[in-house]
Amino acid sequence: MLSSVLSKSQCAACKFCCSFRRQSLWETPLFPPEVVEKLSKPNEYGVVGEFRAVDDPQKNCAYRLVLENNYRTDDPEEEVPCSFLDPNRGCILKPEDKPFDCSIWPLRIMDKDGELVIALTPTCPAIGATPRPELIELVKNGLGAKIFEYAKMHPYIIKEYREGFPIIYL
Ligand code: SF4
Repeated sequence: MLSSVLSKSQCAACKFCCSFRRQSLWETPLFPPEVVEKLSKPNEYGVVGEFRAVDDPQKNCAYRLVLENNYRTDDPEEEVPCSFLDPNRGCILKPEDKPFDCSIWPLRIMDKDGELVIALTPTCPAIGATPRPELIELVKNGLGAKIFEYAKMHPYIIKEYREGFPIIYL
């Protein structure tokens, strides 16, 4: 969805958003039940994921990929890759199985004091910490509305606002 501002080759070479330190586990992908049903047992990708239901009653239709058990050290900087990340090919999931959250990263829809906002995760190495004009245009010209629409049906993608995430106003 961001291909006009972020090329597939940039993402494939980076994979930053597909690996997680312990402090980033709040960002692990959220999957809808029908995809979890498929990915939690032997499937076409040859990778069986471990998932846990998100227990917020507002968000009870989502499952978070469990990666906590994959750390090998106590080093807080250790990163573990998403189960569906191939080191050479990148994400192995087809678009229809890929979490919406992943397809809009580094954008996020967040709740800031009761108001929903589109914000930029400032740590994407390719996009940077400040929204560029072309990203702002993309959000204003339809992508923002699409994210709001998806969030209406899937409120579990709404994250609590975090300081330092620049807001892109529609
Ligand atoms: S599902 Fe795919 S895009 Fe999302 S974190 Fe995992 S490997 Fe990355």
